[in-house]
Amino acid sequence: MLYHSLKNHNNLVSFEDALLNGLSPDGSLYVPQFIPLLDSHFIQNISDDDINHISFSVIKPYIQKSIPTKFIYDIIHNTLNYPFPLKKIHDNIYVLELFHGPTLAFKDVGSQFMSECLSFFHKKIGKMITILVATSGDTGGAVARGFYKKAGIEVIILYPYNGISSLQKKQISSLGENIYSVEVNGSFDDCQKMVKQSFLDKEIQKKYTLTSANSINIARLLPQMFYYFISYKKILYEKNYKKLIFSVPSGNFGNVCAGIIAKKMGLPINTFIASTNINNTIPIFMQSGKYNPTSVKKTISNAMDISDPSNFPRIWNFLYQKNMMKLKSNFYSYQFTDKETLDIIESIWNKYQYMLDPHGAIGYLGIQKHMKKEKKIDYTYVFLETAHPIKFYHCMPSSLKNSIVISKKLKKFTLKNRKPKNIFSISNTFNSLKYWLLNR
Ligand SMILES: *Cc1c(COP(=O)(O)O)cnc(C)c1O
Repeated sequence: MLYHSLKNHNNLVSFEDALLNGLSPDGSLYVPQFIPLLDSHFIQNISDDDINHISFSVIKPYIQKSIPTKFIYDIIHNTLNYPFPLKKIHDNIYVLELFHGPTLAFKDVGSQFMSECLSFFHKKIGKMITILVATSGDTGGAVARGFYKKAGIEVIILYPYNGISSLQKKQISSLGENIYSVEVNGSFDDCQKMVKQSFLDKEIQKKYTLTSANSINIARLLPQMFYYFISYKKILYEKNYKKLIFSVPSGNFGNVCAGIIAKKMGLPINTFIASTNINNTIPIFMQSGKYNPTSVKKTISNAMDISDPSNFPRIWNFLYQKNMMKLKSNFYSYQFTDKETLDIIESIWNKYQYMLDPHGAIGYLGIQKHMKKEKKIDYTYVFLETAHPIKFYHCMPSSLKNSIVISKKLKKFTLKNRKPKNIFSISNTFNSLKYWLLNR
């Protein structure tokens, strides 16, 4: 499989180069040259297949030749080494829990996969690789974890000062070693812009072999398909399962983008709901056709406080060829306020003793709204629970705080008494990042 950028379809690069470049030199995102179709037998027999083999079959066409089969298996094995439970909340609504990994959020999957791939390539390249990454909260911790103490790789993480939770900050900054944290006096969108610009800067390129570990990186995006397949396998064991609708709490739209790619490969998913907080660029785009990112508004689902989602062009330009009719046929996007989010967390706890986090809560709200608005009752709904509620403890409803429990196994990841290391502060301009990078 080769990759091209969204702007230029003629300049083809390998998986390795797409991974190492992160962003294409023309400033747009890489996409695969085409979406391979899976054998229908594979889909039909998925309930008897094991998770590693399913994941291998899904990812193989995208990285074949760049990484030998044996290593692909090792990479998958090291990535999917914790459970992905699918639980029924009530009636035809299920939750897929993606928070059982080392930083308690779904980004562990993509980050671990990418770091394993990069370690494989690093042995070939032989020089220091610098990962430069912007985070709205969870990417940072996941990337720090994935790359911690990996030889020949250093990680620089930019995050919005005051934009992330204290546990998120700990997960980013308490490891030290080859992990460096840069606090930016600005928003996530600022951080993301600064990172993107660094990749295009000649002087920075001279000093560093840079790559990105944001969800713009193809090696983070593609493995996120795994758990859509895993949940499909699991849903087949449920009685009365019907056509599938996924609701994905969305910020940078990488998670939902991976789901749509899985669908295009042949996974029988009927519809996607991209559920957002009041950073509502896409819900508005779906209504008006106007793409107007504004300044970012802070919410309690802070990992989704993004107003110019990087992955949306992959969905719109590449997967749906800028065709609004096609997009509207199986993609919906709804927005919800903090008040709605808190109310649903309380009500789901009171009714079903299930504790949502603010992001998963927005996923649930998306289902509720869709059922009401589109009268789509006769479906099986799955929402992604993208983080453990303990991660957002400070903004959970105060009446429920005492009921938030964390298993012993996950508790070891909360880094209670760790102190921050390697933290730096800069302003929200590209020049301040450039100065810091060139003079550190
Ligand atoms: C990153 C994140 C999201 C948003 O995912 P995208 O792929 O950026 O749309 C949702 N929930 C949590 C907890 C996250 O960390």
